Amino acid sequence: MSIRTSVLALAAAAFVTAGGPAYAQGKLNVVTSTEDLASITREVGGDRVNVVALAKGYQDPHFVDPKPSFLLAMGRADLYIAVGRELETGWLPPLLTSSRNAKIQPGARGYLDASQNVRILEIPAGQVTRAMGDVHPLGNPHYWLEPGNGRRIAQALRDKLTELSPADKALFAQRYDAFDARLAATEKRWDSAMEPYKGTKVVTYHRSWPNFMERFGLQVIGYVEPKPGIPPSPSHTVQLIDEMKRGGVRIIAVEPYFSLKTPQAIANQVPGGKVLMLAPSVGGVKEVTDYIQLFDYNVTLLAGALKQATGK
Ligand SMILES: [Zn+2]
Repeated sequence: MSIRTSVLALAAAAFVTAGGPAYAQGKLNVVTSTEDLASITREVGGDRVNVVALAKGYQDPHFVDPKPSFLLAMGRADLYIAVGRELETGWLPPLLTSSRNAKIQPGARGYLDASQNVRILEIPAGQVTRAMGDVHPLGNPHYWLEPGNGRRIAQALRDKLTELSPADKALFAQRYDAFDARLAATEKRWDSAMEPYKGTKVVTYHRSWPNFMERFGLQVIGYVEPKPGIPPSPSHTVQLIDEMKRGGVRIIAVEPYFSLKTPQAIANQVPGGKVLMLAPSVGGVKEVTDYIQLFDYNVTLLAGALKQATGK
């Protein structure tokens, strides 16, 4: 081989490497709307996937500011995983279009709506109007906050990853089974920690928690927001304080992206009132770095506060 030919070969090899080691290793590039979906993707996909989450867990997933890095990641994605149920309706559609990546457009093989096989609550019976606030006609989109739904998301992911990378079928199946078993073991622990507080009434800021509260048997009697997505108003706050006093309700759960001012003012007016900042997503607080820790954190915090509030 001449010197000239071998230099060309080297350059070609270098070009392949520069083109992205991820492709060279045959990994799937996955982009998800949220850190929860990213965490479950890593559980199932292991080292066969590169995962990027767009919204951070401490941001309100209804309102996400687009960044250039989003388009970069989306442009080279093999798979996009959305929460669905119109959670991302305000920010995702234009990003998908701008990514100019045909593989991940809704309806394509590389687009997965994670809400398809999960248990969805609060599907409105009648017509949805603007007067109802930010009510989603397809039901409450915060469904990932229930471990049973986490398992259903993982199943859908296992099947989608297998469709896109059939050679890794056995690996994805085995990783799903391991996640399922780990989740089942921790679910027992969470259920028994929450068992004594079944039927306890609580208030939450936004309607983020119906699946979570239903699972652990707590009753949400009101919201700091007068309507979903509508900021607190004095008349609604007064009414809520009244309802909390009458029902002996003490706990107000708040997502990290809302101001604590109104919840704290309400708690000050209610005997034994307490504001709890729960993590609605992986990354919502820095301790929570994966999907199982999300429940570990919230259950520990909530059970501790309920123990204090109820004396049980
Ligand atoms: Zn919401």
